[in-house]
Amino acid sequence: MSTVLNNFSNDTICAIATAMSDAGIGIIRVSGKDAVSICDKIYISANKEHTLIKHVPNSIRFGYICDDSKIIDEVMISYMKAPHSYTKEDVIEINSHGGMLVMNEILQLLLKNGCRLAEPGEFTKRAFLNGRIDLTKAEAIMDVIRAQNNFALESSRSQLQGKVYSKIKELREKILYQMAFIESALDDPENYDLTGFPEKLRGIIESVNSEISFLINTADEGKIRKDGIKTVIVGKPNAGKSSLLNTLTGDERAIVTDIAGTTRDIIEETVRLGDIVLHVIDTAGIRNTDDVIEKIGVDKAKSKVSEADLVLYILDSTSALDDEDKQIIDLCKDKKTIVLLNKNDLSDNIKITEDILRMQFSEIKTDKLPVISTSMLKGNGIQELKEAVADLFLNGDIVPKQELYITNLRHKALLKEAYDSLMLVIDSIDKKLSEDFYNVDLTNAYAALGEIIGEEVGDDLVEEIFSKFCMGK
Ligand code: GDP
Repeated sequence: MSTVLNNFSNDTICAIATAMSDAGIGIIRVSGKDAVSICDKIYISANKEHTLIKHVPNSIRFGYICDDSKIIDEVMISYMKAPHSYTKEDVIEINSHGGMLVMNEILQLLLKNGCRLAEPGEFTKRAFLNGRIDLTKAEAIMDVIRAQNNFALESSRSQLQGKVYSKIKELREKILYQMAFIESALDDPENYDLTGFPEKLRGIIESVNSEISFLINTADEGKIRKDGIKTVIVGKPNAGKSSLLNTLTGDERAIVTDIAGTTRDIIEETVRLGDIVLHVIDTAGIRNTDDVIEKIGVDKAKSKVSEADLVLYILDSTSALDDEDKQIIDLCKDKKTIVLLNKNDLSDNIKITEDILRMQFSEIKTDKLPVISTSMLKGNGIQELKEAVADLFLNGDIVPKQELYITNLRHKALLKEAYDSLMLVIDSIDKKLSEDFYNVDLTNAYAALGEIIGEEVGDDLVEEIFSKFCMGK
């Protein structure tokens, strides 16, 4: 049951750790057993006396990076002696000027003098392999870097502080204790009595599984809060689609991303409804055509809707409902949909109300469909929209309630694996199978939980996880 990690390289690695753009300061990181001796070949202190070997660990010095006699840059250089460093190895960080060319020259010098270019995530991988952090903390580091909203940042922080790790460890210990007891009792029946044990074990497993299932249940909400909701806006011409998008975008500059890999590029715009993030897909269609449904055809509209987790269907409430509306509502019936009856500021001309809509489309289950009266002109109904999204996706809580959320799909899958294995133990107890049957499934559950924190992982998984990291981290 020990960790299987074979290809841990022992060489000294380097990488540019800061962004590749012109900036005041850039940091080049070096880690490994030869970090000090390699840097000594290219570093001269300001008074031309000190070498890094004489440098007091965990302090920072001013000096120069030189290629033979040529000064490459003025730098501040810090030395963190193993094991008191990010990787638990000797780590040198060179703070140079942040220009891309100068950072690259320093990097090339390090490579020439014996370093190897680090792979993405290799510094953190070393921190993990050297036992400084568990796998959940390593993953949290990347999540902190990539966090796009407050929730994502807070939940990655709490994971980085070890909250997921402690919880998983606690659950594993409970399982391990039972495994050990069964093993001992089977080895030494004279001193261990298993009478009544299956019932007791059943209770313990149920309680562990209710904790696991609680964690699994936080995952969907956690993912939505962290990653946002794929949303599509549909509606007839002039209903107010682009006005809705503009209202949601507000003063914040929209981030437009191209997602390749589909039949044509889809334009996605990220907007915030308070703390809830919506990724509105195909906004090009909204902005550039007058009639999304008609121009793209119902079939394409169907595929647009099927890509989304949420459909915002906006109607001009001053024009009467027609067959096309019916088609659109029909299209959305299996999706989480919110209907917006727009232009409520034109109160003298209202032709569609919530009651009319529900009555006319009673055969299409509109009873569960949230309907909100809005005015994009006046900004009416946005708070109600926020609440409706929270109702559909977040159990009605706009603000996160739990302290701990599972936001990583890998963790969720492994929790589910552990849960299923523990259910098999309960099954064996109910079938009155002998105790040695329990241990197979207890071991599987223990291993699945171990994989979350990295105590039962193979090389492949470690490679896969760290390859998603950025350079220099
Ligand atoms: P789209 O074709 O669905 O994208 O609709 P637009 O957002 O371009 O809006 C069509 C027209 O309706 C524009 O002239 C908007 O200014 C107007 N409009 C949009 N929302 C409202 C609203 O809530 N009230 C009023 N009175 N006019 C609106």
